[in-house]
Amino acid sequence: MLTYEEALGRIQQAVPAPRRQRVGLEEAFGLVLAESIKAPCNLPRFDNSAVDGYAMFAVSHEERVSNGEPLSALPVVGTAEAGRPFDGVVEPGRAVRIFTGAAVPAGANAVVMQEYVTTRNEEIILDRWPRIGQNIRRRGEDVRRGRMILDAGARVRPEEIGLLAALGIQRVQVFRRPRVSILATGNELHAAGTRLKPGQLYDSNGAMLAALVRQAGATPQPLGAVPDDLELLAQEIRRGLTADVLVCSGGISVGDKDLGRQALQRCGVTRLFWQVNIKPGMPVWFGQRGRTLVFGLPGNPVSAFVTFEEFVAPALARLMGQGWRDPYTLPARLAADLPVSGSRRTQFVRVAVKGDNGTTQVTPLPDQGSHQLRSLAAADGWIRVTANGRHALRSGSPVFVKSGASR
Ligand code: AMP
Ligand code: MG
Repeated sequence: MLTYEEALGRIQQAVPAPRRQRVGLEEAFGLVLAESIKAPCNLPRFDNSAVDGYAMFAVSHEERVSNGEPLSALPVVGTAEAGRPFDGVVEPGRAVRIFTGAAVPAGANAVVMQEYVTTRNEEIILDRWPRIGQNIRRRGEDVRRGRMILDAGARVRPEEIGLLAALGIQRVQVFRRPRVSILATGNELHAAGTRLKPGQLYDSNGAMLAALVRQAGATPQPLGAVPDDLELLAQEIRRGLTADVLVCSGGISVGDKDLGRQALQRCGVTRLFWQVNIKPGMPVWFGQRGRTLVFGLPGNPVSAFVTFEEFVAPALARLMGQGWRDPYTLPARLAADLPVSGSRRTQFVRVAVKGDNGTTQVTPLPDQGSHQLRSLAAADGWIRVTANGRHALRSGSPVFVKSGASR
């Protein structure tokens, strides 16, 4: 049976090159830039005041000392507010009332904070002379016009959005957000809100997978649940194949009602693997039709969760130009023995995580069944372990916890 690493490798090979698209800043959030961006203007756009105070013409300290210049009273000849510049010229020996963010008026080369002046009628008296340039935020000191400010490959976070918006950039080229169809299969499944008959249950994978798709930064397209019927299944799969990725859950195992594989093949999806030596999630299926990647995840909710996180999420990351780094990076120690099976199987284990004076301790949760959703929600994290011939990992063994890097 395929190993976890081999399965990941096949997926990475199959992922097509990411597609580019020009989008508005709001849509760009969370996506990766497909172009480098040069500053179309300076930031700050103009010299402006960093404080509330008075703008004036200051001479150098040496000049003032050699002139024996006294701290005289300066008449205040006008006001400069943010968005409302003073349009005259400040003559030496005069001042303009200025507020934070206001353009520094012509003739002024320094701003004194209002805390350092005494006001008297229409004049100010300085406690001390400002340095030349004091409290002035210089044009272009943050971003110089024409300079490269963001490289292709950068993830657009709120930080980048702020920078782009300040520069007046409204649209950027990014790697397109993939659309992911989600299809649940099983005769027993019904939508939330319906009255269940004996033996029926709610389709929880549909909702959970849609949230996982969103968390990965892609757009979910829920197709609901279909019964185990080859015709109906094929019909919904064909709809799902119009997306970038189709994620089905249930019906890919070996039971008589597991028609998923047959239906996928009938729709022209080429199988690239079926079954991986992992727990939970062993029956996972992967294939492709044209550019569309197709995942058949096992129906058990925790298996569906794990196989999405381990196989679908990396594929989506690549499709969005993000690349993929192994997220199991936080070193920790087992706080209890962990039974593992003696094969080369890779196991994903729900754990409670505790940090004690520098070392992270993880305790496997008792309920590890692939149907047990409560412990999925209760877990602080996951570890990935391979038995390598052992039957248990002893308490104190080193392990790696999955970090939030993939989120
Ligand atoms: P299957 O993979 O179809 O054999 O299903 C395995 C188990 O997962 C069965 O107990 C199903 O009832 C359950 N299951 C399958 N699909 C879903 C779903 N969409 N939501 C909740 N449970 C499901
Ligand atoms: Mg089923």
